[in-house]
Amino acid sequence: MAAMMRSAPRDREARHEHAPASGARAELTRFTPEDASPEQVISSAERLRTLIEASPDPIFMKDGEGRWLEVNRAGLEVFGLEGVDYQGKSEAELSAFTPFYREALLVCPDTDSVAWDAGKLSRVEENVPRPDGSIRTYDVYKVPLFYPDGRRRGLVVLGRDITDRRRAEEERDRLLEKEQAARAAAERAERRSAFLAETTRILSGTLDYEDTATRLAHLCVPFAADWCAVWTVDGQGGVHLGALAHVDPAREALAKPGSIRVEPDLPGGVSHVVRFGQPLLCPAVPDTTDARLAALGTRDPACEALVRALGLSSYVAVPLIARGRTLGAITLARMPGSSPACAADLTLAEDLGHHAALALANARLYEESQEAIRARDEFLSIASHELRTPCTSLRLGIEALLRHARAGKLDRMPAPLIERLLETSDRQSKHLLHLIDRLLDVSRLEAGHLDLELEEVDLAALTREAAGELREEVARTGGSLVVEAERPVRGMWDRARLRQVVTNLLGNALKYGAGKPVRVRATGDDTQAWLCVEDRGIGIPEDRQAHIFDRFERAVSSRHYGGLGLGLYIVRQIVEAHGGAISLASLPGEGSTFTVTLPKARAAVAARAS
Ligand code: ADP
Repeated sequence: MAAMMRSAPRDREARHEHAPASGARAELTRFTPEDASPEQVISSAERLRTLIEASPDPIFMKDGEGRWLEVNRAGLEVFGLEGVDYQGKSEAELSAFTPFYREALLVCPDTDSVAWDAGKLSRVEENVPRPDGSIRTYDVYKVPLFYPDGRRRGLVVLGRDITDRRRAEEERDRLLEKEQAARAAAERAERRSAFLAETTRILSGTLDYEDTATRLAHLCVPFAADWCAVWTVDGQGGVHLGALAHVDPAREALAKPGSIRVEPDLPGGVSHVVRFGQPLLCPAVPDTTDARLAALGTRDPACEALVRALGLSSYVAVPLIARGRTLGAITLARMPGSSPACAADLTLAEDLGHHAALALANARLYEESQEAIRARDEFLSIASHELRTPCTSLRLGIEALLRHARAGKLDRMPAPLIERLLETSDRQSKHLLHLIDRLLDVSRLEAGHLDLELEEVDLAALTREAAGELREEVARTGGSLVVEAERPVRGMWDRARLRQVVTNLLGNALKYGAGKPVRVRATGDDTQAWLCVEDRGIGIPEDRQAHIFDRFERAVSSRHYGGLGLGLYIVRQIVEAHGGAISLASLPGEGSTFTVTLPKARAAVAARAS
């Protein structure tokens, strides 16, 4: 620039520029008024030069070929060229003096040519690395100057170090981004807690188990999933689909509650969640049949069409555990096109799982207590009826005798009549005692007090005795009782309790045996004994067999058969206290076979009891 200011012709040429392309170009031409003397021009040019030199911004003047004419100190510093004789040299030549800035220098002609091609001021942002590892950013203006005939005359380059401003802007952007992220997270958290609060409110509005599952599934859609399956544990301990909700109500109808059973032994998916009580995140369901079916806990190929219809690309599944009991699981699924399930979904599902499991546990508890109340009421009515029958007949006998006694006619009563009355009273009082004993046994069992007095007992002899005592009963039913118990079967057992087992099973076989033959067998080997009681009577419906050893369970109507529904319960408790087991095989209308297995040795009893 000094050269340019010292040379008058050049200045004049500058003045001849017409139609300046920018403010910078106008600035450069204004210091040479037509009427200035050469001295004035020189002193004015020097003033300008001093001004440019003092500028903290880098300023470069190049000729039309890109050779450097004038550069201020700030400009030389940009490329580490302080003290170098730069005048008349191009960037390529100058780069030899400053190897570190070679690359930065060689870029300059490229951006210069952009300005030349545009023919007017162009602006570019350039990054120049520094030896200390930092990078300085410059906002660069390039102003091309032309001769009137269009030839290139010179290029003015003005730079401004905007590194600090850029940094401040970047920092501001970063803070802004952070603030936006924090706000979004806070909003998400707010929506989440509102969702969970709503869940608790809605779920606490019902104590019906099925209804709880249905409400839960619908709550999750669409807030937490495109579709949601709630899996619940059924009465047999199996897990099945309790409810399904879908963003598209038409697809919701594709799977009915109870229509899918979770297979407990599948390696992944819902089966895994239920089996191990662990949550699962599947951010991308692999494109295999097994992987798709795992989301429904099944390997039933028919379900693949269902999964496709529901639409599945990712899912989370969490167990529903309350008070240490697994009540089922929830699957929160996303369809293709939705954002995939992520860790945040899993956390939400886990929180939801805690709330929902409690609600389901309460519903289950309520149902169980209702069932217990119903069973108790039924038992009380049956028990009072059962106790009343022998009492009534006992009273009738006693009243007849009392009437005769009060009238002084007792000695005139026929002896066979007195005997019959006394026999009936004796039988009824025994029956009454038997019922009361059963009730006492149950309360003892409930309190956990079934003490066994073990001694050596011959099960075969005991069976023969018990069968003998039931002779009258056999005669009354019109059937027969075949006993196969010739060889001794000895073991360490509680004699009275074992007698109870045999009598109970034989009594039931006669009672429900429809007058057909009953067979009892006592056998054993070195370590075990078996008692098998078989009848060809009414049998037990299949769906009742699993519960027939439970308290108060009856598979017959009390109008046709009396009973408390406690005999088999007590039998099982006694057998199990001995370390044994009881099983049942029965076909309705064809008969029943009860088989008791008992360990012979005391050691086995002790081991099982502990
Ligand atoms: P109870 O006979 O007093 O009702 P139990 O506990 O002895 O009570 O038996 C429970 C139920 O099991 C009976 O009510 C009956 O329905 C069924 N049951 C027991 N033994 C037999 C059998 N041998 N054949 C058919 N049903 C039986």
